[in-house]
Amino acid sequence: MSTLVLLEGADDLSLQALTFARRYDAEVDVVAFGEAPAVTGVRTIHVAELDEYAPQAWARAIASLNPATVVAAGTDRGNEVLAHAAVMLDGVFAANVVEANGDEVTRQRWGGSLLEQARLHGDVKLMTVAPHAVAIEPTDGEPSVERFAPQLHDADLVVRVSERVDTSTGGLSLAEAPVVVSGGRGVGSAEGFGALEELAGLLGGVVGCSRAVTSAGWRPHTDQVGQTGTKISPDLYIPCGISGATQHMAGCKGAKKLLAINSDPEAPIMASADYAVIGDVAEIVPAITAELRRVKG
Ligand SMILES: Cc1cc2nc3c(=O)[nH]c(=O)nc-3n(C[C@H](O)[C@H](O)[C@H](O)COP(=O)(O)OP(=O)(O)OC[C@H]3O[C@@H](n4cnc5c(N)ncnc54)[C@H](O)[C@@H]3O)c2cc1C
Repeated sequence: MSTLVLLEGADDLSLQALTFARRYDAEVDVVAFGEAPAVTGVRTIHVAELDEYAPQAWARAIASLNPATVVAAGTDRGNEVLAHAAVMLDGVFAANVVEANGDEVTRQRWGGSLLEQARLHGDVKLMTVAPHAVAIEPTDGEPSVERFAPQLHDADLVVRVSERVDTSTGGLSLAEAPVVVSGGRGVGSAEGFGALEELAGLLGGVVGCSRAVTSAGWRPHTDQVGQTGTKISPDLYIPCGISGATQHMAGCKGAKKLLAINSDPEAPIMASADYAVIGDVAEIVPAITAELRRVKG
């Protein structure tokens, strides 16, 4: 029996899920939507003829392939679709898994601050893979591609994407950006993020934020880093005016280097910082930007 992997594309999180599945099972098939992702090392890519995202319809397509094991990346979509698919398949679902062997899984709980060992009791097993917990392994071997039109129920399209709004990040996603400049309550206002946008732009990165900021309505929820936001793993993370609450840190543990900018030398974020600048965000960020502009000429 093979393992079916839901791939949202050929992005890093999808490839991490694919590596996880290949470690779990020697035979791996893929299900994708709209077009076949450019991946190798799997047997067959089943491409469902459904272009727009509709969680229940995607789950119905997965269920129609009668899988015994389903794996997806632990993204918002991966978790949402597999939750629906688990209901349709009468299966058991574990989210944020980092390791699995047969019916035994190790998964992250509490935003990654503890690991839980669990057993999946059920004939159909569904797992999402914790973001950035698995190193991508290279693959080869061209898969065959089979297109299919899933038989949907009327209710399957009740929730679906109806509109797309472009962001100003030039196509870079928060989850995959090499540099993330995040702002917290210490930035002071929505307008204060202009300076962070400028710095992120110069560094080829994107802007993120803390939950205090999304709660204040200064930035959209899609910008939030943390346990209930996006998990990031940039080469450089620059939290500005962010205290470093555990729920925030759960989202940026994967950062390779952390440069904290905060007026409080005792702020908890300092415990995780590789570098720190103690001072007012409103002065430090423009000063770094000016220096970068000078160096870049
Ligand atoms: C279930 C649950 C889930 C949560 N999920 C998330 C999540 O996903 N992401 C998240 O971020 N939070 C999350 N939170 C909220 C989290 O607990 C914190 O409340 C939040 O992260 C605090 O945001 P902050 O650091 O911006 O604000 P604060 O904690 O108020 O910190 C502001 C910081 O700015 C500094 N500062 C102030 N003025 C300046 C200045 N002028 N210049 C420089 N520094 C300055 C201060 O010294 C302070 O360190 C969650 C909470 C719960 C209960």
